[in-house]
Amino acid sequence: MSDFSNHKFGTRAIHAGAEPDPSTGAIMTPIFQTSTFTQEYPGKHKGYAYARGKNPTREALQKNIASLEKGKYCLCFSSGMGSIDAIIKMLRPGDEVITGDDLYGGSYRMFTKVFANFGITFHFIDMTNASNIESYMNTNTKLIWVETPTNPTMQIIDIAACSKIAKAHKIMLAVDNTFASPYLQNPLALGADIVMHSVTKYLGGHSDVVMGALVMDDDKIYEQLAFIHNSCGATPGPMDSFLVMRGIKTLHLRMERHCFNGRKIAEFLKNHPKIEKVYWPGFPEHPNHEIAKKQMRDFGGMISIVLKDKNVENTFKLASSFKVFSLAESLGGVESLINHPATMTHASIPKAEREKAGVVDNLLRLSVGVEDIEDLIDDLKQALG
Ligand SMILES: *Cc1c(COP(=O)(O)O)cnc(C)c1O
Repeated sequence: MSDFSNHKFGTRAIHAGAEPDPSTGAIMTPIFQTSTFTQEYPGKHKGYAYARGKNPTREALQKNIASLEKGKYCLCFSSGMGSIDAIIKMLRPGDEVITGDDLYGGSYRMFTKVFANFGITFHFIDMTNASNIESYMNTNTKLIWVETPTNPTMQIIDIAACSKIAKAHKIMLAVDNTFASPYLQNPLALGADIVMHSVTKYLGGHSDVVMGALVMDDDKIYEQLAFIHNSCGATPGPMDSFLVMRGIKTLHLRMERHCFNGRKIAEFLKNHPKIEKVYWPGFPEHPNHEIAKKQMRDFGGMISIVLKDKNVENTFKLASSFKVFSLAESLGGVESLINHPATMTHASIPKAEREKAGVVDNLLRLSVGVEDIEDLIDDLKQALG
């Protein structure tokens, strides 16, 4: 197996984990569409016994994603939520988790509606000031769960500062790196113990697969998570693994364009008379811009806007009037999407909680795709006009 660990990002995206097939020379990793593998003698096989535990197509993808995050191990799951579920299953009743107050709606729902019933306590706090974390820390605290940039208000949480606190208390730090992708941010290098991705988004990149991934360096954390992965079984199939491998080969090219288009659109929206506020971490006046500059390579294509008009019907009308942007949940694909978080991605968060976090009814979130920038700006102009 060639080692691409010293190569640059684009080369790793294309080559890491993707060895030509030894039996045929096929340059693409085959889709090993099989549930089981024959054994010569009980227990004597070629390293694969049953596909929940190990499948060669998934293995190739896992090596690739590990390489993009510069981590030792990767485990892929059948969804992003499946991968977060595995992390929380490392905990015990009585344990506590400190996390942010502007989380992906599905994470908030799983923490409060599923794992709270198993005796795990979650503290949802303002993490933009890392010293807030200390005041929630006690001997039961086992995990700090960070999402940055946050969804949808694009706060930036200082990963290195969170890691310092986690290390001082000998607890784990896990980072949901979905919004940044490994192209913009590598949490392990900033001291995180586990990086999580909804592979569904930028890694897959083509809105055709739902998948999750965890990347880690620590042998013990890997052993525990690999055990949960195989025991609980939220593992993805080989066809999806193949599609994601193909998607990742252009991750660096797509991310460059997402960032370029994102910047142009953020600047256009900032000066638009119908817009009250634009959330994008690339603006020098963004309250966490300095941290964003320190821990990210660029600022991405995720932007949220608050309209001056507070009338929710008018917000709905606007969201439905685009011709290039599509009204849909999700993000990170090649096509531009617009989303109304209050009724779509964040509907599972109670209104009062939501509004406290700034997710008001007149907020819209854009996932800027990789189309031609002139067409995207024209579409915004006609929809806002
Ligand atoms: C989509 C998303 C998830 C959940 O991932 P799925 O693949 O949809 O299960 C978690 N975190 C963030 C930030 C997301 O955008």
